[in-house]
Amino acid sequence: MTPTGARTPTPRPTAVPTPVVSAAEIAALGTYFRAPIAGLAVAAIQDTFAAMRGSHRHEATDIVAARATPVLAVADGTVAKLFTSAAGGLTLYEFSADGTWCFYYAHLDGYADGMREGRMLHAGDVIGYVGTTGNAGATSHLHFAIFKLGPERIWWQGTAIDPYPLLRAVASP
Ligand SMILES: [Zn+2]
Repeated sequence: MTPTGARTPTPRPTAVPTPVVSAAEIAALGTYFRAPIAGLAVAAIQDTFAAMRGSHRHEATDIVAARATPVLAVADGTVAKLFTSAAGGLTLYEFSADGTWCFYYAHLDGYADGMREGRMLHAGDVIGYVGTTGNAGATSHLHFAIFKLGPERIWWQGTAIDPYPLLRAVASP
């Protein structure tokens, strides 16, 4: 079944027209981007970036996985925010090491030990566990979003890009 996607949290990444994202920037991200789930399979990735969820676009990709599956940092970076919202449940916002991107992980069952804002992350570090917190519905899944930060690097503001091609590129068939 299709999991009930996350409504975006409040506050949430907004699809403001700026900052502009170039194809070259997305290609650069693809050179270091890693899967957020070990053994990620294409079949587990839902291509739902443009799907409407209520009155807004989903602007994220849902990855179906068993509850308590470790969630891995997709890139080197820092924990920008640990946030709990009605929609996203337990969430983590990671800024990439170069300060360009924010990676958003939602519906977590819990955080990995030692997660705190400001902590440095290496790609592949366990940051938390797949769950159904927030409005995830009955099917445990990771709601994963990527947005480009503006110059002020505010954790809930940016331009969302579709994670699906990046995820698919690092998934096994
Ligand atoms: Zn979702």
